[in-house]
Amino acid sequence: MSLEKIKAGIRDVPDFPHPGIMFKDLTTVFKNGNDLQEIASMLYDKYKETGLTKIVGIESRGFITGPILAEKLGVGFVPVRKKGKLPADTIEESYSKEYGVDIIQIHKDALNADDVVLLHDDLLATGGTMKAAYNLVKKFGVKTVYVNCLVELDFLKGRDTLEEANEVYSLIHF
Ligand code: AMP
Repeated sequence: MSLEKIKAGIRDVPDFPHPGIMFKDLTTVFKNGNDLQEIASMLYDKYKETGLTKIVGIESRGFITGPILAEKLGVGFVPVRKKGKLPADTIEESYSKEYGVDIIQIHKDALNADDVVLLHDDLLATGGTMKAAYNLVKKFGVKTVYVNCLVELDFLKGRDTLEEANEVYSLIHF
């Protein structure tokens, strides 16, 4: 039932960042310590038996809950960032957005073939961002890739782009 409470606490911000977008603002959830603990413990229970070795979080809101879960599971955290932000050698992937093309990058030495990866972000919409991150992670030849978002906008069918992933799991659905 607490998931329903957390869902109800997400703030809708109309027309952000563009007209026609209903932005799901999770800062109203993150500022509540009990909600944050609840999210971390639900995700811990979900992934504790999967043999994860790394959580790969997507800039920028995947950097909030990703490291909390990594610490709880005792696994490493790896950032995927927008082009030009990571300091060392990177590999990259481009993807189409509503307005133009975006590029995300990961450090070349961030993962290896033995890793079992959880790709994590706050929200799955069209799936464009997550699919690009999935493609990046697959370039390392990693064993398994799980995908997790806190929120999924079901009507945009983002998970259809991620059929190759081991599993796509979201806590809250709209
Ligand atoms: P997409 O690539 O369409 O799946 O968009 C996912 C990325 O954009 C995530 O990093 C989200 O944080 C952000 N995003 C897209 N749509 C929304 C929305 N309606 N509310 C909040 N964040 C969104």
